[in-house]
Amino acid sequence: MGLFSKDVAIDLGTANTIVYVKGKGIVIREPSVVAIDRYTGKVVAVGKEANEMIGRTPENIIAVRPMKDGVIADFDITQSMIKHFIRMAKVVNVLKPRVVVSIPSGITEVERRAVEEAVMQAGAKEVALIEEPMAAAMGAGLPVDRAEGSMVVDIGGGTTEVAVISLGGIVASKSIRIAGDALDSAIVNYLKKNLGINVGDKMAEEIKIAIGSAYEDNEERVYDVRGRDVSTGLPRTVQIREGQIREAMSENIDEMIEAIKMTLEHTPPELAADIMEHGITLTGGGALIKGLDRLIAETTKIPALVAEYPLDCVAVGTGKALDDIKSLIAKSKKNY
Ligand code: ADP
Ligand code: MG
Repeated sequence: MGLFSKDVAIDLGTANTIVYVKGKGIVIREPSVVAIDRYTGKVVAVGKEANEMIGRTPENIIAVRPMKDGVIADFDITQSMIKHFIRMAKVVNVLKPRVVVSIPSGITEVERRAVEEAVMQAGAKEVALIEEPMAAAMGAGLPVDRAEGSMVVDIGGGTTEVAVISLGGIVASKSIRIAGDALDSAIVNYLKKNLGINVGDKMAEEIKIAIGSAYEDNEERVYDVRGRDVSTGLPRTVQIREGQIREAMSENIDEMIEAIKMTLEHTPPELAADIMEHGITLTGGGALIKGLDRLIAETTKIPALVAEYPLDCVAVGTGKALDDIKSLIAKSKKNY
């Protein structure tokens, strides 16, 4: 490692943090989870290691997701997490790195400052922010700089971000706090209410990934779920069908589609025509829900396509923004 200052891009997601180093690509992909000793307040583990501790640790260790709804819910823990990941990426040596971080479009000035401060305190020389939908669109390879409308829908853990982009800027957007985590909770509630079985959020996520779907087709996958009987408290295994999970998730999915429709309503007609022609691009982990593209296409009458590596789009797009890091930093400073 020479005396180079490395430029770094961070996708600080509610569910996953991805670190991209200029010239190298993605070097870290970890859950945004920190395990803490409840009594000393010390960080015990970060990322995958901390994630595996959830539900398995002695009572004194708690696993925390410091980002909630796309923003910093716990500043100190977020800062420790960023520090840890920056250290893991081995980019802080003699010269400190310049860092670009993607943030949800709907966050407040105070929340923006919190992200900047956390990154600076984690050892950055300079920090700039880029809005997530812009990063997602860039990462998906959409022509963001052209005088042409592109629509991106990024469905993460905490937020669903819908945006129409043209000429390098966001023309219309909507951010709702309904995304992957909300789907997991909906599954937990459904199973409790309809089948009398209690499962944790992690099991619900596993079910969602295994048999979750948004559109009814000929396939009806099943999944054996181990949980706890609501009335007896004893362990019980139940077979769940795809249709049940679709029903559990449908209300939240409808809200996502409503957000897309509302954004389209606020889109100038010329740009809407471009979107009708080129389609809506889906990014983020939630884009992988089976049949979601089809449901969106059918309800909006606009083609919808899942980006090639939906989980990586924001990180790759934030990485591309490193090429313009100077002007981004200047822009961030002007905002003060
Ligand atoms: P964030 O940017 O908020 O960290 P991500 O884009 O990394 O979020 O996506 C994480 C979300 O995507 C989680 O809620 C996860 O359960 C969900 N997810 C990941 N893979 C799939 C899949 N194959 N099907 C459905 N949901 C998925
Ligand atoms: Mg994200």
